[in-house]
Amino acid sequence: LRRNPGEPEFHQAVHEVLQSLAPVLRLRPEYAEAKLVERLVEPERQVIFRVPWTDDRGEVHVNRGFRVEFNSALGPYKGGLRFVPGLGLGTVKFLAFEQIFKNALTGLGIGGGKGGADFDPKGKSDAEVMRFCQSFMTELHRHLGEHTDVPAGDIGVGTREIGYLFGQYRRLTNRHEAGVLTGKGIGWGGSQARTEATGYGTVHFVSEMLATRGQNLDGRRVVLSGSGNVSLFAIEKAQALGARVIACSDSSGYVVDEDGLDLELLKEVKLERRQRLTAYADARPGAAFSTTGSVYDVPCEIALPCATQNELEEQHAVTLVKNGVQAVAEGANMPCTPDAVGVLQEAGVLYGPGKAANAGGVATSALEMRQNASRESWTFEETETRLATVMSSIHADCVTAAGEFGEPDDYVLGANAAGFFRVAEAMHAQGLV
Ligand code: NDP
Repeated sequence: LRRNPGEPEFHQAVHEVLQSLAPVLRLRPEYAEAKLVERLVEPERQVIFRVPWTDDRGEVHVNRGFRVEFNSALGPYKGGLRFVPGLGLGTVKFLAFEQIFKNALTGLGIGGGKGGADFDPKGKSDAEVMRFCQSFMTELHRHLGEHTDVPAGDIGVGTREIGYLFGQYRRLTNRHEAGVLTGKGIGWGGSQARTEATGYGTVHFVSEMLATRGQNLDGRRVVLSGSGNVSLFAIEKAQALGARVIACSDSSGYVVDEDGLDLELLKEVKLERRQRLTAYADARPGAAFSTTGSVYDVPCEIALPCATQNELEEQHAVTLVKNGVQAVAEGANMPCTPDAVGVLQEAGVLYGPGKAANAGGVATSALEMRQNASRESWTFEETETRLATVMSSIHADCVTAAGEFGEPDDYVLGANAAGFFRVAEAMHAQGLV
């Protein structure tokens, strides 16, 4: 704590991992001697830089950029860029730390990193976003490379931003190095199914969890938070598997639609018109928009928090349990507070932590890197099949790892132990670096 003051989210993420590693570390006394945990919690490198840019009126703005290159024992640093106002180092470090274990779980040879800036793309013109991205990449490019560090999108960074970032990287380096960024457009090196991958993968993970109890998603009431990239495609896959998705949210409130959300309308409102959820409720008879309480007050059997960190708090978990929730899987990174996780696990709810449940996005990014390296383009079906295989294997690895400690239902223990072993063995084998 003293070494990393003012970084509560990073402390929270490290605490969660170390708590479940105590029994794991007893099996490997040699790791203590090699100070493996002490090395694991210290980033290999972190870069903080100035990002000056001008708005459409010619006014100068100065933002702060970050890239935390946390661990490359398994492969090049891999993890998204987040553009949100107020972003700080502690948030980027928490995300990069989580990414180490998530990426290890995919088994696809990628290390952990994360980055971003305290820049708000909302309300900015395309030209402003382009100038910001160009300035951001002008510094960041010297730290990147397909074998070094490969960023992707995250909150506030979609295909538009990746396009501007990639264009500037190409101009600065005079190289068409497609594998340096993932989340690219389909026509210029992007992978089919990358946009859908995180949401689809999360629903695939829930299906696997339910199957351990002989259940599935057909006819189940599902509620999720957010209405961005992860949420929209989680809704799409859940509906395809027969679930009734009845509520979702954005930062202005939540909408309840007992007939089941109209995904086409929701996509139009969110992706095309870039409007708030009220616009959905206005256009859809029977749907109600609310700003009181929380989306988790809506009774459901499956809850998928897909918005942001620490949004599902203890009282929300208590309500979910009271209303009979059976499974909660994190589409977002660390959306449940530690107290909420405690309530869910205590009640015997199947709980899938983000580092396992939302790993489908980064797994498909790694598949995009493979396609770039071999100059191939796989079909949507082929990519989705590979994604499903990766998610099933992550699920199986979690159950096996947790089962070795007598807790096969404990996906937190399973994900942390399985991810840790892969990274720790590589670090140990590679010596004191
Ligand atoms: P988006 O920016 O596309 O969507 C985020 C959504 O969450 C928006 O609808 C936003 O609403 C909403 N939101 C933000 N804060 C709140 C809040 N406090 N309460 C309710 N809703 C809120 O981001 P993504 O969908 O890409 O990412 C969501 C989460 O998933 C993040 O934690 C991200 O790190 C994680 N993730 C994303 C991956 C990806 O492939 N995109 C991969 C793995 C994890 P509004 O528009 O009003 O701000």
